[in-house]
Amino acid sequence: MKGSGSFAFEKDSLALLRAALERLEAGFASLPASPTSFLAPDSQAVERVLCEVAQRLHDNFPYFHPLYAGQMLKPPHPVARLAYALAQWINPNNHALDGGRASSAMEKEAVAEIAGMFGWKTHLGHLCSGGTMANLEALWVASRLRPGANVVASQQAHYTHQRIAGVLGLNFESIPCDGRGRMDVARLGACLAQGGVGTVVATIGTTATGSVDPLPELLDLRARHGFHLHADAAYGGYFCLVDNLATETQRAYERLGEVDSLVIDPHKHGLQPYGCGCVLFRDPGVGRFYKHDSPYTYFSSAELHLGEISLECSRPGAAAVALWATQRLLPLVKGGEFARGLMGGRDAALDLHEKLRTDERFLTGFAPELDIVVWVPRAESVSAASPRSRWLFTEAARRNLHLALAELPADFFDLAGAGMKRDRDTITCLRSVLMKPEHRDWMERIWEILIESAEAQG
Ligand SMILES: *Cc1c(COP(=O)(O)O)cnc(C)c1O
Repeated sequence: MKGSGSFAFEKDSLALLRAALERLEAGFASLPASPTSFLAPDSQAVERVLCEVAQRLHDNFPYFHPLYAGQMLKPPHPVARLAYALAQWINPNNHALDGGRASSAMEKEAVAEIAGMFGWKTHLGHLCSGGTMANLEALWVASRLRPGANVVASQQAHYTHQRIAGVLGLNFESIPCDGRGRMDVARLGACLAQGGVGTVVATIGTTATGSVDPLPELLDLRARHGFHLHADAAYGGYFCLVDNLATETQRAYERLGEVDSLVIDPHKHGLQPYGCGCVLFRDPGVGRFYKHDSPYTYFSSAELHLGEISLECSRPGAAAVALWATQRLLPLVKGGEFARGLMGGRDAALDLHEKLRTDERFLTGFAPELDIVVWVPRAESVSAASPRSRWLFTEAARRNLHLALAELPADFFDLAGAGMKRDRDTITCLRSVLMKPEHRDWMERIWEILIESAEAQG
């Protein structure tokens, strides 16, 4: 198969892991030999199990391939994979410095670099298992600052905000969106006028469409009403580094550093394996809410232990090591290689949107703000278009092009302009998250398959 144009995983980096492992081992050369550290596993048995695992893993969509253009899935960078694996020989726990001294230092450095992207010179923050946990922590701190007050987020905010509010025992209210999937500021204003709101969640890149809530207007409202403004930038946070956003979106990013707390997911766009979210607070003083005096944890120095400012106890030091290594190789700067990678996906999204917009078989909504495109096949009505979306999804998948489906408000599309009857409030759309830089170069191929699939549908 190899050489015939078929896909192959990059494997050369395995040799780099061996070299790095030897360097790591050299650091512990003064330890007396220990029989257990030399105990080799039964290699034949391990190989048998691993091959069985590989076999089982075939039953996955090919997330790493450019023809996977469906959900938010992006392969980790090889350096992240290797650094994570290397750290496994130590398996540090970033709860306390006793469990992971070097990896805790690397976490603090990597997190400070992320905070630096938003212009924060001081902050309080750490890594956690993902965006959900990070948002839980941000809303928990917000609720300590304004006890008993309500949380509001847009109807397109991540579904977990409502659930998190439930866990924290807070009332939750969702604010309708405009025709572009962004929080409707007038509706938020009306809600604030009624009082009782403690926290407003601004989604900076919604999960469904990558829409960016109008942050400058939300900051104006905060000046008037004094709520905790939390930015859920789990998906979109890294786009503050790119130069190819629309002016209005750009304006929101320019002011992102003015929010009170912020969540960003290195395991979404930051090239990390799963298990890497990040929560940041602009005021380091919120650290007081985390105070605990666990009898199990013996904090061995006066230096900050990350377990003192985190809701979770044990956390993987390996995730911090992987993130640190990735940012060392690909610094979080405008114009850098990492930023150019994000711009590649965004260019691909603009390209796909334009192809769809000018093709009479399809109907697009608003232009993508980030790198997510949604569209529907044209039909006489909303109820007729939805099954066609599902059909096209299946036809494309049969040709190895993997898209996603989303149930969205019908008002995201100019139905009247397209002569489509609005006989339902929501419409099943096709959705493509173009997260990989390679998507730009693969767009012609993607388009070819899409057209072929649409023609098979008739
Ligand atoms: C993905 C996402 C989340 C949830 O993050 P997880 O890492 O999946 O827990 C929250 N908010 C937004 C906007 C997201 O895109």
